[in-house]
Parts: sequence; structure tokens; C-alpha cells
Amino acid sequence: MKKIVLAALLVGLSPLAWADGFLINDVRIFNGVDTSLSTGNVLVENGLISRVSATPIEVGDDVVVIDGNQRVLTPGFIDLHVHLTSHVPYNQPDAHGTVVGAVANDVARHFLDSGFTTVRDAGGTHPDLARAIELGTVYGPRVFPSGAVLSQTGGHGDWRHSSVANPTLMGTDPYIHADQAVIVDGVDQHLAAVRENLRFGATQIKIMGGGGVMSDYDPIHSLQPSPAEIRAAVQAAGDFGTYVLAHAYTSEAVRRLIDNGVRCIEHGLLIDNATAKYVKKNDVVISTQLVVYRALKDLPGITETHLEKLAIVLEGQENLIGLIKKYDITTGFATDLIGGMYPMLTREFTERAMYWSPAEVLTQATSESASVIRMSGKLNRHGNFGEIREGWVADILLHNGNPLDDISILRDPANNLALIMKGGEIVKNTISN
Ligand SMILES: [Zn+2]
Repeated sequence: MKKIVLAALLVGLSPLAWADGFLINDVRIFNGVDTSLSTGNVLVENGLISRVSATPIEVGDDVVVIDGNQRVLTPGFIDLHVHLTSHVPYNQPDAHGTVVGAVANDVARHFLDSGFTTVRDAGGTHPDLARAIELGTVYGPRVFPSGAVLSQTGGHGDWRHSSVANPTLMGTDPYIHADQAVIVDGVDQHLAAVRENLRFGATQIKIMGGGGVMSDYDPIHSLQPSPAEIRAAVQAAGDFGTYVLAHAYTSEAVRRLIDNGVRCIEHGLLIDNATAKYVKKNDVVISTQLVVYRALKDLPGITETHLEKLAIVLEGQENLIGLIKKYDITTGFATDLIGGMYPMLTREFTERAMYWSPAEVLTQATSESASVIRMSGKLNRHGNFGEIREGWVADILLHNGNPLDDISILRDPANNLALIMKGGEIVKNTISN
């Protein structure tokens, strides 16, 4: 241990970051599932939670002891709908990929420093960024990337100006500039695009399954793409043991996606009661977001067309929340912030607390989101996380204050997150023993 401390001091890092094991004593534990706190101690070894105990845990000298001092301990948070590389401001649409990457670095940092140890990128981020974070080259949360979004010509991911030629027909790299979508038409192109994403390391596939707000040429009611194309994407994903998530708002779009094998609907704001019932019956997830729809109107660069479409979908938001509650639909926690809005990330907690209890919101952001991530099957190379459980990955937060009493403490992670541990590694620690 002495040698480790010395080495750490020499390079100016916290010695804690170098230890093999940590004992976090005297904490009140929210385990990600149970709504009440239990007092206890948590031992972390080799990146995993090796023991959770109400009685003292004996450890040797090689384990660093952290005095939790009755702080609340929770699993690290998970966001199911992130676009790490979509944060160049919306009024700078021609930014080069180097700028996109530089901004993504700030975004990734913000997520981890806000307590998000895992994110599912819902399209646009190259899987290599997930790998760079895993290797420690870039600081950020664990990323489950979807690769480039699949969109049909004229669909929600076809953001070309009307004078720009179709990139699929002309051939281009979807990651150059801020496009991050691949325009595909026909079964063969859907198969090829999914396989290409999987080849790069995508852990699930994202398709644009209907009209969207921030695109110019597709009305909200439009159905995208054809049933055969959806089935092709689902089949190619399924052949790798994973699933397709799809952007969609209307009942018609959602039903068509479900009927052709899609397992996770993004947004879903305009579905009716019967469709919500259908979603539940088919055990499909609706990953929806609150803050982005309420804040988007102020985004610099948003157009009249986008504002008109925003008004249409926003009208359904409260109804959807009611349906998710009524049918107990799996939803998790998701934000979909874009265009530089990422500092609003933690506002999602308090916005949700207008409809769900703090315990329910925390469950959404931990165990429930983790259950959705696990739909990636064997493409998940990170093990189980999202709960405080023996044998599970040690993604751990220590809070100053109790988010179950006052969820607004999560809005200020700089002051209220005392410790952030990702995969057994401490990335922030303000507790001095
Ligand atoms: Zn999105």
C-alpha cells in the first residue's frame, strides 16, 4: 500500500484511484430496487461489489477504508437516450468532425461528473468513442453505442439541405460532419447498415421509425420505413443477439414497429390507450424524455417547421406519462439532450419527480434502465450493473443529502456528489478520512 501511495503522489493522483479494494463503511443504501434505505457497509474488490453487509466487514491493509458517515449510497445512474456527438450548437450545422469530437469530450465528462456511469447512445456516436472511454483515453461514462442512426431517404435522420445529393447513392462517411445518420432504402441497405454498425461495435441498433421534430421533410404522422425494412434491421440485429430501438411518436408507427420486431420505442408521445396496452402486452419498452421537449423551443437555430412539429408532440406528453404509469410500462431514465443542451441533464430528475416519487425516479435511473441495457445480450461485455448487489459491477455514488427525501440535491452534483465510482475505480472523492 505504501508503495502505491508514493507512486500516486509522484504523479499527483489521489492514492485511492490506485487501490485494489475499497470498503465503504457506515452508509445508508438505496440498492436500486427497494424503496427504503438499509444501513450497512459495502466492499468493492476487482471492480465488483464483493460484499454488502449490515454488520462490520473485516479487511486487510491492502483495502482502502472510506468512512461513509451515514451518507446515502446509490448505484451509478444510467441514461438510455444520449447523443454524445450531437452537441455542436444547432446553429453551427457545418462543424467538422474534429469539432464534434472535441465537444463530445466535454459532454462525456459532464455525464460522468453528474453521476452517470453508463449511457446508451441512441445514435450518432461512433463505437470507437465507447472503446476510447473504456481504455481510459477519454474520460466519461461507459457507453453502449448504437452507431449511425438508420433513416430512410426523407426520414427523421435525413438532415440534408434540399440541394445536397443523397449520400447513400453518392457514397460518403456518415460520421464526417455532424450527420451521424446513414440513409438507407430497401431491405439490402438496411441489412448492410446494421451489419456495418455491428462490425464497428454497436451494442444495439437505432432506426428512425416515424416522423420527428428536428428534421425538415418528414411530417410527424409519416411512417418510416416499410415493414420489410424494419424486419431486415431487426433480423440483422437479432443475428448478433441484440435488438432495435426506434424513434416514433404515433400509435400507427409504434404498432408497426412492434409488429415487425422492435423491442424499444423512443419517445412515443402520441400513443393512445389501446396502443399503450399493446406495448405492455408485447413487453416492449417506451424510453421517453421530459426536459428536452420542454426546453427545445429555446434552442438557438430551431426553425418554424421544427417548432410546429414540437407543439404537436408536446401535447401528448402528459397523456403518455399517465399511460406508462397506468400499464406499468418499462421506461427507465432518458434525456435525449442535443445541440449543447447537456448541462440540463440533471433537471430530468426534478422534472420526473413531478409525476413519480423520488424512489421511482431513482429506480428508473438505475435498475430499470439497466434492465433495458441488458437487452443487448452477449454484446454487453461489461457484466451486470445498476443495482447494489454482490457480484455486480461497482458503479457507486455517495450523496451529501438524501435524494429519496429531496431529489433536487441531484441537480448540483459538484457539491452533492461526495464520491463517484465507475467499475470499481474512484473518479471523484471529496471524503477525507
Ligand atoms: Zn435522440
